Amino acid sequence: MSTRLKGKPVADALSDAIRESVTNWQQKEIYPALTLIRAGEKPDDQAYERAIIKRCESVGIKVNSEVVPEDVDQFDFMSLLRRQNEDPAVHGILIFRPLPKHLKEEEIQYLISPEKDVDGFHPINAGKLMTGDPTAFAPCTPMAVMEILKHYEVPISGKRAVVLGRSMVVGKPVALLLLAENATVTIAHSRTRDLETVTSEADILVAAIGKSEFVTAAHIKSGAVVADVGINVTEDGTLTGDVESGGAEAKAEAFTPVPGGVGSVTTAVLAKQVLKACELQQLQ
Ligand code: NAP
Repeated sequence: MSTRLKGKPVADALSDAIRESVTNWQQKEIYPALTLIRAGEKPDDQAYERAIIKRCESVGIKVNSEVVPEDVDQFDFMSLLRRQNEDPAVHGILIFRPLPKHLKEEEIQYLISPEKDVDGFHPINAGKLMTGDPTAFAPCTPMAVMEILKHYEVPISGKRAVVLGRSMVVGKPVALLLLAENATVTIAHSRTRDLETVTSEADILVAAIGKSEFVTAAHIKSGAVVADVGINVTEDGTLTGDVESGGAEAKAEAFTPVPGGVGSVTTAVLAKQVLKACELQQLQ
């Protein structure tokens, strides 16, 4: 019988620790604060925004939502971001992505202050992550995977880890985070040959490809720990992961469910990163 690595106990434990630290800062009249920047009214972004506000408010972090029309021009968007960068009362900034297509992401990612970049968007943070700099901000989803493994005391050092997917927002950063914990890491992607053989070597398999129930029992070594990052909505409206429920999950020793796994830890990680940004800014 495989174990479900549920996200809620992880998020609750993180929240308790964050709340305590936030209270300590408040006693020194420092109020950790996050700005959210959203262009347009995408339901996914709005749902994520509500979850972020709920989590942050529950731990005492202030949230300011800046919403601009989907057709906002580049100059106005950059001006808004510049104001948040310069506001000393704002410690963290999260921009909902993907941005509308007409906005030049390659310019915006270089404008966000790296010290406030709590979702690891600026290339400086990607570089810091690669060099092992403790002031790095990694994107929240890969950090959520690591928090789950840590919470459930999954051994990482010396283990074979395979990451399925190589995006900048999940695959590559989670591979670097696993490497930093001394796993032997392989990154697989759409051009990987003989995928089942590669993934079947994994003691820890992270699935982040965005294909509903793509990972079957044939991809999984018996006894592996599987972190399912995928969030997919099927034609009938069901929310699924990248890992097949049933057979594939049963073959694993432990797996993160969808929903209720990685996704439910992301907002707590974001709150933790806002606190980290606030703390680092006090040292400057
Ligand atoms: P993405 O940018 O589309 O990247 C998908 C990756 O999967 C790419 O590297 C791609 O390879 C690889 N891939 C696609 N089809 C494949 C196949 N048949 N075999 C092997 N590799 C394949 O997606 P993403 O942004 O990383 O997101 C991945 C999933 O995580 C999505 O379901 C997304 O909704 C979910 N997600 C969840 C959270 C959360 O909070 N839980 C947050 C972010 C994303 P190539 O590079 O070769 O194209």
